[in-house]
Amino acid sequence: MNILFVASEVEPYAKSGGLADVAAALPKALAELGHNVKVILPLYSSIKYDKYNLKLIMPQTCVHMGTCEEWFNVHHTAEPHGIDVYFIEFNKYFARTGYYHDSAGEYRDNAFRFAFLCRAAMQTVKDMDFKPDVVHVHDWQTSLLPYYLKKGYDSFFSGTKSVLTLHNMGYQGIFSSDVLSYAMVRDYDFKPDTFEAYGGINMLKGGIVYADKLTTVSPTYAEEIRGPIGSNGLDPYLNRRGADLSGILNGIDTTIWNPSSDRLIPTNYTVKNFTDGKRRNKKALQQQFLLETNPELPLFSFIGRFAEQKGLNLLMDSIDSVMNDMDCQFIILGSGDTVLERFFGELPKRYAGRVGSFIGYSEPTAHIIEAGSDFFIMPSLYEPCGLNQMYSQAYGTLPVVRATGGLADTIEQYDEKRGTGTGFKFDYMAARSLYDTIGWAVSTFFDRPAHMNNMITAAMKKDYSWKRSAQLYYELYKEAVGK
Ligand code: ADP
Repeated sequence: MNILFVASEVEPYAKSGGLADVAAALPKALAELGHNVKVILPLYSSIKYDKYNLKLIMPQTCVHMGTCEEWFNVHHTAEPHGIDVYFIEFNKYFARTGYYHDSAGEYRDNAFRFAFLCRAAMQTVKDMDFKPDVVHVHDWQTSLLPYYLKKGYDSFFSGTKSVLTLHNMGYQGIFSSDVLSYAMVRDYDFKPDTFEAYGGINMLKGGIVYADKLTTVSPTYAEEIRGPIGSNGLDPYLNRRGADLSGILNGIDTTIWNPSSDRLIPTNYTVKNFTDGKRRNKKALQQQFLLETNPELPLFSFIGRFAEQKGLNLLMDSIDSVMNDMDCQFIILGSGDTVLERFFGELPKRYAGRVGSFIGYSEPTAHIIEAGSDFFIMPSLYEPCGLNQMYSQAYGTLPVVRATGGLADTIEQYDEKRGTGTGFKFDYMAARSLYDTIGWAVSTFFDRPAHMNNMITAAMKKDYSWKRSAQLYYELYKEAVGK
C-alpha cells in the first residue's frame, strides 16, 4: 500500500509529545510489513539540517492558498526501511523557535500555518507523482487534509482515503474564521455540524466529520471520548462517526527504548539480570540528582509535560504527606505550567537528598530515569495512550497510575494475593488516592520483594513493539480503501 503520513511533529526531527513518537515509529513498522511509506513535516528552524543529511530536492514549489500563491522548498532525507521523509521549508511560517508557540504565547497564525502544511503536503506528493492509497493525518494540525480529499480539491487524489488519529481531544485547533478563505474552506462547508464552533473554526471537528476513518490511541480512550468530558465537547460528532471510530494502542520504538541496548543508560540489562542492572542504574541516577545513594529506598519518578492533563496537581497536593509519612525518594523531570515548575523546581531544597528535579526537556535524563527508578508515577486526569508507562514496564519500573485511557489498557493491576500484575492503578481523581497508591507501592517494595520481582519480570516480558499495532492499522487502511 502507498501510505502518506502528514504530521506537525516527527521524532527525532521535531518532538514535543507522544504524537512525534507515533509519527516516527508507525511508518517504520508499516514499512517493515512491506508498505511504501512517505512522511511529511514542516522544516522548523530547530531541525538540524546536516545532522539528518537533508537535501533540497524540490525548489520553488507552488501551492495556492485562497488568492495567495505560496512558494516553498521541499527537502528530503532517506530513513532505513526505505522511508522517505520530506520537510516543507516555508520560512514565513516555520522558521521559528517553537512549533506552536514561544515564550510570548501561541503563534497567532497557527491556523494559517497548518492549513498551508496540509495543502503543501498534497502538492508535494502530487509533484513527485506519488499517489497515496491512504493519507494518515494526526490531530488538528493536519485535520483539514481529509476535507480537501473528501471535497475533491484535486482529482489526482480521487482514489485516496484518509485516516485521522486523535491523539488528544484537549487540543482541537479553534481559531477565528479569518482563515477560511486562505484555508479554502467553502462558506457552505462552514456550518455547526462541520467546522464551525461559536463563530470560529474548529479544525479537529472538521477532521472528524470528513476523515474516512477515525482512530485514537487506546480502546479505553476511544470509549471515553464518546462522552462530553472525554471529548471536550465533540462527543456528538464522534458518536455520529461511531462506526468508523476505533482505538489502537501505540507501541513503543524498541530500538530506542530497550534496556538491553540503550546507549543512554550506564548499565544495560535484560529480564534475566535486571536486579543487578537496575541497581547500578539506580545508583547512577541517585548520584545525578544528588539523592542518598541507597538501593534500599523505593525511588519514584515522573517525566512529562507539566500540563493539567498529567495530574501533577494531585502529586503537588500529596507529596508533602508522602515525604513525611513514607521512606522513599522522588525525581521529577519536565516543564510547562509555571506554578508547577516553581513548585517542583524548589522541592529538592525542601527535601535535600530525597527529592530531585530537573525543569526542562532532556531525552538522556528520561532514559536513565526509566532505567534507575523503581516506580513511575502517572496520575493523569486523562491519557489517550501514554508512552512513559510502557517505557517504564519495558525497563522494569512499575507504573503507579490513574486508570484512564491507555493507562487502564496497558497495565495489569497488582493482585496482592497472587503476587501478579505489572503496576498499581487507582480510579478516583484525588490526591488522597494517589497518596494511598504510592503507599501501596512502598509497602510492596519493603514487604513483598518476591511480588516486586514477579511484577518486574512480567512487565519486562510484555511485547510493546509496533508490529501488532501496525498490523491493526493496515487492516483499518484496507477497510478505508474498500469504503
Ligand atoms: P504526551 O504525548 O501527552 O506528552 P506521552 O507519555 O504519550 O505524553 O509521551 C510523552 C513523550 O515525551 C515521552 O516520550 C516522554 O518521555 C517525553 N517527554 C515528555 N517530557 C519530557 C522531558 N521533560 N524530558 C524528556 N522527555 C520528555
